[in-house]
Amino acid sequence: MKAAVLHTANQPLTIEDVGLTKPGPREVLLRTAFAGLCHSDDHNVTGDFPAALPVVGGHEGAGIVMAVGEGVDRVAVGDSVMLLPLPTCGKCRYCADGRTYICDANLDVMTGARADGSFAFTTHDGRQLGAYGQLGTFSEYTLVQQIRVLRYERDIPPQVAAVTSCGVITGYGSAVRAAGIRDGDTVVVVGTGGVGMSAVMGAAIAGAANIVAVDPVAFKREQALKLGATHTAASVEEAQPLVSELTRNRMADSAIITVGVLHGELIGPVSRLVGKGGNVVVTSVAPVTENTVALPLVEFAMSAKNLIGVVMGLTRPLADIDRIYALYRAGRLPLDELVTRTYKLDDINTGYEDMHRGVNLRGVIAF
Ligand SMILES: [Zn+2]
Ligand SMILES: [Zn+2]
Repeated sequence: MKAAVLHTANQPLTIEDVGLTKPGPREVLLRTAFAGLCHSDDHNVTGDFPAALPVVGGHEGAGIVMAVGEGVDRVAVGDSVMLLPLPTCGKCRYCADGRTYICDANLDVMTGARADGSFAFTTHDGRQLGAYGQLGTFSEYTLVQQIRVLRYERDIPPQVAAVTSCGVITGYGSAVRAAGIRDGDTVVVVGTGGVGMSAVMGAAIAGAANIVAVDPVAFKREQALKLGATHTAASVEEAQPLVSELTRNRMADSAIITVGVLHGELIGPVSRLVGKGGNVVVTSVAPVTENTVALPLVEFAMSAKNLIGVVMGLTRPLADIDRIYALYRAGRLPLDELVTRTYKLDDINTGYEDMHRGVNLRGVIAF
């Protein structure tokens, strides 16, 4: 079977024949249907947020359960399932109090190893190969822990389930959960790829009066207006007078940062887009070595603003994905529009080049 493998940072993914072991206890073997080209995999390629190498890439996706190991009780053979980039063990303190996005079981996801420390994939000459995010969706088949999959109903198209597994819940949750948008709010979404566009849709569902989409790419600004944005700006600087005018100088209630690669100097200007008591939601991944933020501290404290770190949109996938699909079925969350282009696994590097060129909201690999 074929998979896209990253051997060395800053090199293209290579398509190669790989081997896969059988499911062990509480593991599930999947045939991948669709895999999303999430930016986080590219953060691994660039080394901004590195995982152990070599690794089969991909952590966003949906597939069919082909076999299950001993003790699997969450899914059965034949189920359609989506992958969960972060696990929900259901047993730890954080799962117990509803903050499943910081489940204790997610500590070792970047090792690419199975729960027992071994590796599911092997190269054609028998060397060990990790699975990115312990998922490895850029492969025709993959092996994952049962706490990393969620069964979904078949009326949801598999490519929609694939992009929902990471991009949609992250963006939607950033708006509806992390930013806590209320009716009549003004919201700014900075960066409108797949995650940012899901935040735009979430802001619309949550009842925001003004939704300002900020993106340098004209195509993305046009799409944002179709998906719920009320206004657009090409940059944070350009958004400043617009938000000021829209809010009669009160400024926005929240700003959600969903740019491709975050740098600390963006936080200060974005914090000035929100007014008193406003929320700055940090969803984007920054280079892991970067630890400096420029923030006007007196203004930030005196205006009682909030800086909120966000993983998976602070969602609880086992409950929130059901809500997202209810909105999709009702025609209120046009998730089909997020999937701009479909690629073959062989063309995955073209897909990532297209992401960098800004021509996709989300590209997906169809297996
Ligand atoms: Zn992702
Ligand atoms: Zn847990």
